[in-house]
Amino acid sequence: VKELIENAIDASATEIKIYLEDAGLKKILIVDNGYGMSKEDVGESWKPHTTSKIADEHDLHSIKSLGFRGEALSSLAAVSTLTIQSRPPETRTGFSVTIKDGSLCQSSEVGMPMGTSIQVEQLFSRLPGRKKFLKPPQVELRHTIDVVNHFALSYPSIRFMLSHGKKTILDYPPTDARIDRIEHVMGPTASSLFIPLSKSTSYISASGYIAKPQLNATSQNKQYIFINSRKVSDKRIATAVKGAYGTMLESTRYPLFILFLSLPFEMVDVNVHPRKEQVDFLNSAFVCQAIKQFIAETLAENNLIFENLSWKRTGVGLSNSYAGKVLKNTVLDTESFSGNEKVTLLQFQKLYIIVSSKSEIFIVDQHAAHERILFEKLKKEFIKQKEKKALFKLPKPIALKLSAAESVTLNEYLPLLQRIGFVLQSTIMTHVPLLFQDRDPRELLMRYLEDLEQGHTNVVDNASEEMLAFLACRAAVKAGDELAEYQMKKILVDLETVPNNATCPHGRPTRIGIPIDQLNALFKRT
Ligand code: ADP
Ligand code: MG
Repeated sequence: VKELIENAIDASATEIKIYLEDAGLKKILIVDNGYGMSKEDVGESWKPHTTSKIADEHDLHSIKSLGFRGEALSSLAAVSTLTIQSRPPETRTGFSVTIKDGSLCQSSEVGMPMGTSIQVEQLFSRLPGRKKFLKPPQVELRHTIDVVNHFALSYPSIRFMLSHGKKTILDYPPTDARIDRIEHVMGPTASSLFIPLSKSTSYISASGYIAKPQLNATSQNKQYIFINSRKVSDKRIATAVKGAYGTMLESTRYPLFILFLSLPFEMVDVNVHPRKEQVDFLNSAFVCQAIKQFIAETLAENNLIFENLSWKRTGVGLSNSYAGKVLKNTVLDTESFSGNEKVTLLQFQKLYIIVSSKSEIFIVDQHAAHERILFEKLKKEFIKQKEKKALFKLPKPIALKLSAAESVTLNEYLPLLQRIGFVLQSTIMTHVPLLFQDRDPRELLMRYLEDLEQGHTNVVDNASEEMLAFLACRAAVKAGDELAEYQMKKILVDLETVPNNATCPHGRPTRIGIPIDQLNALFKRT
């Protein structure tokens, strides 16, 4: 799909429509209104190493068009039933060829509007080995949505439409304003939190949008980087951007941004990656330094530095996390912990709880322990019959505003979310699991969707323990959350009441005890 969209863009299309069946396995059809191909070119286009995009040797080094290797159509022709139909503006009819597993099996004139349509059927049907390597259809579909979104952000003046079976997944009207397209792709809430950026030095210029710190994500998949209009992924640039946000973002959160960089073509080498998604720079340190500076300046111009300082002073740590909210409201029964022994608690490195009792020192991993607690509670809810579930009715139903990709993810995971106690009618949420009653329900669900979207789905099926472990992990206190004494106690007490409490759901220990004899032995006090 990516290669076919590139071809349509290279042909100056202003409208690109993508139709998928079975996430593309059964059929991919891409229709554009670009300048098309002559009859002769249609006949040649699918043969190996044919391209109309290299005029001379110089082109090979400073590539301005998206395609140039002449491999997309020939590769598809070899592994599918491929139909190419195209009509250039100067002829009244189009020409159509069908190639099945590498050989031409049909060619004829065809009536069609100006442009090109490429249809791929039975992809990899003769190559079961290759087909096996495809991800499940829902995952492939999500990747495809990602690809379309990337192009859509980069080319706002092109209309993009994507449908799956009978359903239109997205349909973005053409626009002159990039921010409108951002709104199409990311939704109105997100787009209102972006600030425009436009900066340049003598060699490199950057434009686009960066998110205010409160619009952040646990993954880097909403970071869009384009170099000379080409979508790339580049860790060095992503790190430079994150660096500019400094302490405005927790270390595990990533800023959203859409960055268009232009550099002299001679300074970039796009040929290091087969899909041209990674690049090499003549001087990457220089490029990254410039980008960091651009971002830092833009944030400062929007007063985001000061916002940051006051935000830090009030202390986000725990109040920011779900556990913080839940634990604060809990009255603790200390007696249930370690009988009547007097207990001393200490939080070490915002990571471990150190507990001393009469005959032992315990070191508890706060995240591992809380994860196990939530996991066991979720599991209990999960196996309950529907009517007995511990649900929390939201005071007011919440309407979720979802992007196309998020809706697909939500649909995929709806059965699971319902089984643990989320109640949703379409995109209106009315109940959450009682366990999460103190959590901001919208934030929790959006966080789940965001994480599920980034591919935990490859290993996890809807009903597995692994999935529950993941949900528990997301809601548990984190390493780095500051805990008050009663909150630590709550974790310790709860931990003692759930089964399998020696390890977290991923198998790491929750607590390590050092008996006094062992300690004595260590100090040679025998
Ligand atoms: P490349 O894009 O690297 O040249 P492809 O195999 O993707 O190689 O395409 C081969 C050729 O077919 C292109 O060079 C172009 O001339 C033509 N072509 C492919 N798709 C289109 C399209 N949508 N509109 C016009 N011409 C196209
Ligand atoms: Mg191409």
